[in-house]
Amino acid sequence: MKRTLITIFAAVPALLCAGACTDFLYQGEVDLTPVEEEFEYPADYEFNHPCAYICSDDIDRVKAAVAEADGTDPVYVSWLQLCSNQYAQASYTPNPQEILVRGDATGTGVSGENYINACRDAAAAIQLGIRYLVSGETQYADAAVNILNSWADVCTTITANDNNQYLLAGFQGYQFANAAELLRDYEGWSETDQNDFRNWLLNVWYEKNRWFMENHGGDGVCDLHYWSNWELANMASILAIGIYTENVEMVNFVYMNFREGEGSGALDNMIPYEPVSDPEGNTPLIAQCMESGRDQGHATLVSSMCAELCQMAWNLGIDFYGMEDNKVLSMFEYTAKYNVTPFTASIMPFTQYEYCPDGCGCSGGHGATHTEVSADGRGTERPCWEMIYAHYSQRNLASSAYYTKLFAEQLRYTDGTLTGDGGAGVSRYGSNSSAFDQIGWGTLLFYQGE
Ligand SMILES: [Zn+2]
Repeated sequence: MKRTLITIFAAVPALLCAGACTDFLYQGEVDLTPVEEEFEYPADYEFNHPCAYICSDDIDRVKAAVAEADGTDPVYVSWLQLCSNQYAQASYTPNPQEILVRGDATGTGVSGENYINACRDAAAAIQLGIRYLVSGETQYADAAVNILNSWADVCTTITANDNNQYLLAGFQGYQFANAAELLRDYEGWSETDQNDFRNWLLNVWYEKNRWFMENHGGDGVCDLHYWSNWELANMASILAIGIYTENVEMVNFVYMNFREGEGSGALDNMIPYEPVSDPEGNTPLIAQCMESGRDQGHATLVSSMCAELCQMAWNLGIDFYGMEDNKVLSMFEYTAKYNVTPFTASIMPFTQYEYCPDGCGCSGGHGATHTEVSADGRGTERPCWEMIYAHYSQRNLASSAYYTKLFAEQLRYTDGTLTGDGGAGVSRYGSNSSAFDQIGWGTLLFYQGE
C-alpha cells in the first residue's frame, strides 16, 4: 500500500512560496511535482504505566475477582489456573543464553537453536509479573526481576544464518518488554538494573525489529515476501519497547506502519480485500487475511498477534481495533468462523491471492497462488479470542463478533471444566514455540461477562 500522494495544481507565484519552495516558479507556471500528504499521527500519548498489553484496570478486575473468590467466576478460576502454572512460580530459574539463535545456527558459534529458553523465560517473567501485581507478594516480583536481570547480564546478541532470527526478535522482544512494563514501578528493581535492561532491549532487540520493519526483511525480497505475522511481531516489539521506554517516535513508527506501511503487517496488506458479508448470516462481515490460504496455524497467529498489537495500542489511546470500520474484526471473524469447533462453517468466501508472483521483486520462484482457505491446521487454538470478544462487546459490537464469541467460549473450558483460556504452559497449547507466540491469559485479564 503506497502512501497517499497528492498533486498540487495551484499555480503559486514564487513570491508567495514562503520558504517551502526550492525551485523558482515563473508566474503562471504549474508545479506538477507530487507532494506527499502530511501524515497525521495521534496528537499525544499518555503513558499510564502499566500500559502495554495489560493496564491497571485489567489488574484491578482480577484483584476484585480474587477478593470475591467465587468458584463460578471465569476470572477467579483463571487466576487459580495461573497460580498453578509452571511459569508463575517464585522458584522459577531462568536460563539466559549469551548468543541467542533462532534459525540456521551455522556460523553462529552455537550448536543449534536455543531460543526456546527466551520463550520460556519471557513468558515466566510476564506471568510472575501478573501474579505480583494482583497478589502484592514481592516474591513473584523478585523472581521476575531475576529473570530480566539475568538476561540483560548474559545475552549479547540475537543471530542466525538466516532471517528466522527476526521472528525471535519480534515474538520474544515484545514479551520481554511487556514483562518489564509490569515491573516498571516495582521498587525492588533498581534504577541501575532497569537502565541495563532498557539498553538490552534497545541494543539486542529493538535494533533487529527496526531493521526488519524498515527493510521489510530486506535481502533482495519484495515488501510482501515475509508474511504478516513477521511484521506484526516486530511492530509489537517496537511498540512494547516504545511504551516501556516512553519513546514517542517508536510508537509513531508503528502507527504509520500499521496504517499505511508498505509491508505485510500494514492493515490493507494483512487484509488485502474488502470484507464481505457472511454467507451464513451469523455475523455482518468477514475478511480473509494474507495467510488464510497458507495454513491455519499461521492464519490464527495473524489474529492473535494483530489482536495483541491492537490491545497495546488501545492502552495508549490508539484505535487499531476500530480502524477502517473495524476491519480487523472482520478478519478475526473469518478466522474464528473457520477454526472454531465443531467445524460447521460451510461457506468460506475467498478471493484468489497471489503470493510473490513472478516480477514481485523477489528472486527465485517461491510464489504461490491461493485459491481457497487452507484446511491445513484447521482448528488451531490460540489464546486471543477472549480478549478480542471483550473489547468489541465492551464497545457494544458483540453482535458483530459472533464467531469470536464462540471461540472465546470454547477456550474458556478445558474438557468441559471451566478453566480460562490460559497462555504458555497450559497443556492445550503444547510446549513448542507456538505456545509462546502470544501472551494470552484473556479470560484472566479481559473477561467482563458474556
Ligand atoms: Zn516477492
